[in-house]
Amino acid sequence: MKNIAHNLKIIHEKISAAEQKYHRKSNSVTLVAAAKTRSIAEIQEAIESGQINFGENYLQEALSKIEALKNEKIIWHFIGPIQSNKTKLIAENFIWVETIDREKIAQRLNDQRPKDLPPLNVCIEVNLEGEETKSGVALNEILPLAQKISEMPNLKLRGLMSIPAPAKDFTQQRKVFHKLFDALQNLNQQGFSLDTLSMGMSDDFEAAIAEGATIVRIGSAIFGPRD
Ligand SMILES: *Cc1c(COP(=O)(O)O)cnc(C)c1O
Repeated sequence: MKNIAHNLKIIHEKISAAEQKYHRKSNSVTLVAAAKTRSIAEIQEAIESGQINFGENYLQEALSKIEALKNEKIIWHFIGPIQSNKTKLIAENFIWVETIDREKIAQRLNDQRPKDLPPLNVCIEVNLEGEETKSGVALNEILPLAQKISEMPNLKLRGLMSIPAPAKDFTQQRKVFHKLFDALQNLNQQGFSLDTLSMGMSDDFEAAIAEGATIVRIGSAIFGPRD
């Protein structure tokens, strides 16, 4: 077994240190454990160390884990690309969906969210660098999509999410994350009151915290390298 408990402890220390160094409130950053390809036993080990928020990218894999772990107190985040034929099961099984990049998907999640559950917390995924191959909306498409989502009663728009390409150094990492911070500020100046910036992974979460991340999504630094 890999030393998940130890890794989590180190990451929490680094998150706290970054919060302090960059004048963020303590405990203002939530750690989402990105658990794609990880076994139920590995997730269980993280739970035993107090981990509550988990992210999954692939619906079928996620559903079997959600079922196996249904007696645990877990907050599940969907963080993968969303195909429209998958929205119903996502709406039924997740508390957060961080990767909304078009109105059609938002509308389906809204319509399929079970009425006995609270609204689904959602983020708009942003393609910060205009990479052709990446999912996410361009900066100038955020506001119109946010306006549409805000009219959907079963979705609660929380903020923005991005997965920028790995950057070579800390300054460059910060520069890219700052664009997402600016985009959230812009929305809030337009009358939104959004509180979530989901950005930063194993190799760049400290730069993301420096730029205002409220969620960091970390996989390999917790569970070890993916095969
Ligand atoms: C895998 C993944 C992560 C975590 O990546 P690591 O580099 O392993 O920390 C974060 N966000 C998303 C969307 C992912 O797919």
